[in-house]
Amino acid sequence: MDGEFAKLKPDGIDLISIALIKPNGEELYLEIDYKGKIDEWVKENVVPKLNQKKVSRKEAVKLIKEFVGKEKPYVVAYVNQFDWMGICKLFSAKDVKGISEIPFRWVPIDFASILFSKGVNIGKMKMTDIARKYNIPTSKDEEHNALVDARILKKLYERIMG
Ligand SMILES: [Mg+2]
Repeated sequence: MDGEFAKLKPDGIDLISIALIKPNGEELYLEIDYKGKIDEWVKENVVPKLNQKKVSRKEAVKLIKEFVGKEKPYVVAYVNQFDWMGICKLFSAKDVKGISEIPFRWVPIDFASILFSKGVNIGKMKMTDIARKYNIPTSKDEEHNALVDARILKKLYERIMG
C-alpha cells in the first residue's frame, strides 16, 4: 500500500488517498474526502497529483473491505507506522476490537525495515532513488501519488524478495 496524508504527525495521520495492490496486480486507488487542514508541503507536492474524485470515509472503508476480502493479508508500506495509524483512524479503530475489524492482519509490515535488513541506506535515499538503484524506472513528476508510489513499492518488493 501507499497512502498520502494531510499532515505528518505523531498521533495519527489523516489519509487523503490510499492505494492498495494485491500480489496478483489488482489495484484499488481511492481519494478520501477530508475537510481539515492540509499541510503546505502536502498542498505543493501531493495535492496537484490527486484526481479529485473523492469518496467519503465510510465509502472508503466499504471499498477497502470489499477489495481486501476476508483472508486478512499482511499490509506492506514504506515507513508504515504512519500509514497504519491512518488506516486505524480511517476505520475508527480505537481498541483491540476495532483493530480486529480492519481487513488486514494486525501486524503491519514495514518495507523500510526490510530494506534496512538488506543493507540499503534508508533515510538517506528516497524510495524512488532506491528503486532506480534496482533498475526500476520512476518518474520524478509522478512521485507522491499513492498509486504511482504503491506500484514502485510493489516492483521493488518483488525485486528484493524474489
Ligand atoms: Mg506516497
